[in-house]
Amino acid sequence: MFSIAPRTTLRQVRACLQQCRTTPMSRTAAYARLLSTLAVLEQREGKLNMSSLAAITAAQKLGGSITGFVAGSNIKSVAEEVAKVEGLEKVLYVENGDYDKGLPENFAPLLVENIKKGAFTHVLAGHSAFGKNLMPRVAALMDSQQISDITDIESEDTFIRPIYAGNAILTVQTADPVKFITVRGTAFAAPEPTTGSAKLEEGADPKAPCPTEWVSEDLAKSDRPDLSTASRVVSGGRGLKSKEEFDKLMPPLADALGAAIGASRAAVDSGFADNSLQVGQTGKNVAPELYLCAGISGAIQHLAGMKDSKVIACINKDGDAPIFQVADVGLIGDLFQLVPEMTEKLNK
Ligand SMILES: Cc1cc2nc3c(=O)[nH]c(=O)nc-3n(C[C@H](O)[C@H](O)[C@H](O)COP(=O)(O)OP(=O)(O)OC[C@H]3O[C@@H](n4cnc5c(N)ncnc54)[C@H](O)[C@@H]3O)c2cc1C
Repeated sequence: MFSIAPRTTLRQVRACLQQCRTTPMSRTAAYARLLSTLAVLEQREGKLNMSSLAAITAAQKLGGSITGFVAGSNIKSVAEEVAKVEGLEKVLYVENGDYDKGLPENFAPLLVENIKKGAFTHVLAGHSAFGKNLMPRVAALMDSQQISDITDIESEDTFIRPIYAGNAILTVQTADPVKFITVRGTAFAAPEPTTGSAKLEEGADPKAPCPTEWVSEDLAKSDRPDLSTASRVVSGGRGLKSKEEFDKLMPPLADALGAAIGASRAAVDSGFADNSLQVGQTGKNVAPELYLCAGISGAIQHLAGMKDSKVIACINKDGDAPIFQVADVGLIGDLFQLVPEMTEKLNK
């Protein structure tokens, strides 16, 4: 048996464990007890971003204690909601409207302050625009390297992530004392806030100056399910030929299925659909129960964003299109005839 002060670094812990000559199994269990993860969560206008809770699922897989972190104005109610997630020990919240937009220039020093204070071994955030913008800065400020977009965890220092648009899977091991990681939401299902009772604590606020000013945002508004988390997605590609046809065929099909709408990059670049709807390597990652696409060839960059979908269905006039290689079901034919026909049958 050995006892370790809470602030002992992981390196010292490792040395201590080696001295104890423990078996691999008991070492793993001992590590897990000593890990402490900060899950950085997102809010928008005082509403918790549920998909950001995927960071908590990943932290649970790591083991050890988990602390949630939120910052912004009127943040206490968000922190209270986070506290209901099972498995969280604590939620740190920082009440300050300067953090509302998640600008990395002042959010990064805010996190650094709280990470140092809490002596966390791991810092996890979603691989979202927020996480991708923020985490490299935080890691750099703490002289560490970020590990991006992980889809699995092998151990406290070894992580799995896809590279080359998902065509190769990399196993990354890091010796950094604090690990900074962004997690792929589709690989770690976000938990629901239910009956958890984590304690709330005010975090430190260094009030770092922010040289960047938030001027405005122009968001696409939609009553449809959120593309990243929808259980059904219908997606259109270049085969739809024009924005008029895209708007004529895809929304009724989406309505019939209660689905979110997605698009290929070719469709987005051609102006058929909004940029926020792009699925793929440089768009969103989705893993719905059903991904139904029409007029999409199935380029690897598109597949990178949707191939983890449970059921993939496609409509394409070219039976040799690569999308058929990943599809569970497919219709070979003209989408201008098949999509309205399918929509009509679904509505019946
Ligand atoms: C660095 C990089 C990043 C990229 N990131 C992404 C990304 O995030 N997402 C993405 O989607 N792409 C991405 N791309 C682009 C990608 O390589 C493809 O160009 C793109 O996915 C093609 O879109 P598409 O399938 O709609 O168009 P196309 O490849 O042109 O396919 C159109 C399909 O429609 C079918 N079709 C045509 N008419 C009909 C009809 N009447 N009925 C039925 N079928 C019909 C055709 O048979 C064809 O298979 C990226 C590329 C690069 C280089």
